[in-house]
Amino acid sequence: VTSTDVSDPLAIARTVGTRLDGTPLAVMLDVDGTLAPIAPTPQDARVPEDTRNVLRALASLPGVHLALVSGRSAADAAGVAGIAGAWVLGNHGIERRSPDGTIEADDAVRPHEAAVQRAREALTRAARTVEGTIVEDKRWTLSLHYRLADPVAVPALMDAAREVAGATGLRVLHGRKIVELRPPVDIHKGTATVALSARLGALDTRAALLFAGDDRTDEDAFTALRARKPDAVTIRVAAGTEAPAETGAEFTVGSPDALREVLAWLAARRAAAR
Ligand SMILES: [Mg+2]
Repeated sequence: VTSTDVSDPLAIARTVGTRLDGTPLAVMLDVDGTLAPIAPTPQDARVPEDTRNVLRALASLPGVHLALVSGRSAADAAGVAGIAGAWVLGNHGIERRSPDGTIEADDAVRPHEAAVQRAREALTRAARTVEGTIVEDKRWTLSLHYRLADPVAVPALMDAAREVAGATGLRVLHGRKIVELRPPVDIHKGTATVALSARLGALDTRAALLFAGDDRTDEDAFTALRARKPDAVTIRVAAGTEAPAETGAEFTVGSPDALREVLAWLAARRAAAR
């Protein structure tokens, strides 16, 4: 798989041509590392005001649907982004928040709620032994954040997470300085973005679709969306050295700022075409 590394973000604009002119247009964006620069702790992350303005402009255009796609809970991701009128796919697709604020969880995860709570106690005990770790309870999943932990302690921490997952029947999902325990159901950013795109009519031939993300979990969306809609525009944000070397995204940009330039171009182009 080859991805075009774009040092000038507007080179994407030239390459995609009219591919984002269709209606409806679904703009689906990961939050952390994509819109919000990576922060020392999850609570410190925020989407810069300049970026919020671009997102608000996009969300207010007729025929444009904005969706935030995050590993955070849907309510948390909505708060970090601070955009009214957006869809939010939270918990890597387990939760869906509608633009009116209603949050629904996928029925398939409900039988596993008790297992997640059992795992929370065991994972919290394990994490307590390593300074700089945070266990986040997202009800349907658990996140263990270790960005501030001593790297020497991380392998044992991963062993402990795997052990807890094994004992409670959960799955382990790795991200950027985060490990997640999830119910054993096949819901991920790929299934969730395809389902929402279908619901919005964004997989139709006259529709348009853009997805951007920075992490391993976003690769599921790059692959699934390109398979379902070959003219979908997929962009990986590769900031720093943590990003995987291989990507299923068509384009790669170097930072959340570079992505914002692409989104600003798109908002201006759609506004001008009205
Ligand atoms: Mg991310």
